[in-house]
Amino acid sequence: MSEKKKAGLKELSPIDIYKLLPKINCKECGQDNCMAFATKIVNREVNIDGCPPLLKKENEKAYAKLKDLLKPAVKEVIVGDGDKAKKLGGKLVMYRHEFTYTNPTAIAIDVTDEMPMQEVVSRVQYTENFNFEYIGNTLRLDMIAVRCTSGDADKFKAVVKKIAETTKLPLILCTLNPAIAEAGLMAAPKARPLLYAATQSNWKDMAELALMYDCPLVASAPNDLNTLVSLAKTLMAYGVTNLVLDPGTFANEGLPDTINNFTMLRRAATKGGEELAGFPLIGVPMVAWEDAASAEDLLKWREAYLASMLTVRYADVLVMHSVSGWSLLPETVLRQNIYTDPRKPVAVAPGLKVFGTPDENSPVMFTTNFALTYYTVASDLESSKLNAYLIVVETEGSAIDSGVAGRKLTAERVADAIKASGVEGKVKHRKLIIPGKASRISGEIEELSGWKVMVGPRDSSEIPKYLIEKWQP
Ligand code: SF4
Repeated sequence: MSEKKKAGLKELSPIDIYKLLPKINCKECGQDNCMAFATKIVNREVNIDGCPPLLKKENEKAYAKLKDLLKPAVKEVIVGDGDKAKKLGGKLVMYRHEFTYTNPTAIAIDVTDEMPMQEVVSRVQYTENFNFEYIGNTLRLDMIAVRCTSGDADKFKAVVKKIAETTKLPLILCTLNPAIAEAGLMAAPKARPLLYAATQSNWKDMAELALMYDCPLVASAPNDLNTLVSLAKTLMAYGVTNLVLDPGTFANEGLPDTINNFTMLRRAATKGGEELAGFPLIGVPMVAWEDAASAEDLLKWREAYLASMLTVRYADVLVMHSVSGWSLLPETVLRQNIYTDPRKPVAVAPGLKVFGTPDENSPVMFTTNFALTYYTVASDLESSKLNAYLIVVETEGSAIDSGVAGRKLTAERVADAIKASGVEGKVKHRKLIIPGKASRISGEIEELSGWKVMVGPRDSSEIPKYLIEKWQP
């Protein structure tokens, strides 16, 4: 029985880890003592390999026990090779408030072997080049799902070959026919694609391919969890350990079953310690496109909400068809928000930011270091092409109104930020425009900073108009 099961899946404490460390307080790990290192391990801030004495032969057993204890409830499975390889799963918990989610849901865009080659290449390039800046992060797409719709091994092989020459993004090879899957693998033998999929009827041949080409393999049993778990058991016994589970994705009336199946698997893995459910889950929101009678925009919208629901409910990889920005952006933004660390405020570095080419008469404003606030103000200043200085005040990631209410944004902090920013040496006036929502502390700021305070608009989109009407250095 694994150490984790013995521990009854209780939350790990630093003591559980400490007991297995060498306990010699040598500080080689950079911590003051073994207990401090154990605390960092529990918070997943360091790796056990950072303790050199633990790697010695005499500590072999303790090392193995620690590895087992720290094993995530959902196995981490790597698809692809090189820099762009994608890690799927590796989840420690069911709910985000319990611990940070790891390995954001990978998004694959599909191509088929019946599309004109030019369209295939253009979809691959779109996927590779998709990027959108969102509060300091770049949102991207991750993989290409190559579907065999022709039933022709040569066609499939040709399209996989072309894609492998065009991109290093990881691939999902989609066919239930082992001979066709093998043709695809021969076109990219070192690419370690995810093979989709082994079923009750083809599992042995697919398992052979996965072992021969060292690929992760999807086990698929739509809407039948008992069969899915039994398939996973069979594949593991056969030697395939890098599995991804496909419990089936159904649009419209099938939505409750879909969400229920994903949830039951993740619960079994994280709360029940069920190792056969402890693999990444694949969702296929592009099933929304099966309803060919509906308008294209409606299908994209259905696909987008299906993808969003599956991102919230435990999918580790999604296969999508739409390449419209308006349907991909909500999904990628949602993913970004869910996979941030809930223990850390989404913040930017405090200090002086320069917009345009300001001079000694340019306006000086401030905002907080809450990322969403900062990027909203910055985008308003950039889009109106203003020349201005913006002081970002350290508020521990609080926005303006909550910062004032919670004493994270105080007149002292603003006065200190002005001094630390060096702006006093860049402008000859002493006028500070403060956000309208911070008007309550305007008097105190004047008193502590010695600057004349002008109360600006409550919404940063009104800054350009405000400056035209009110700014006089
Ligand atoms: Fe303890 Fe290992 Fe750190 Fe030394 S290196 S203090 S033995 S945890």
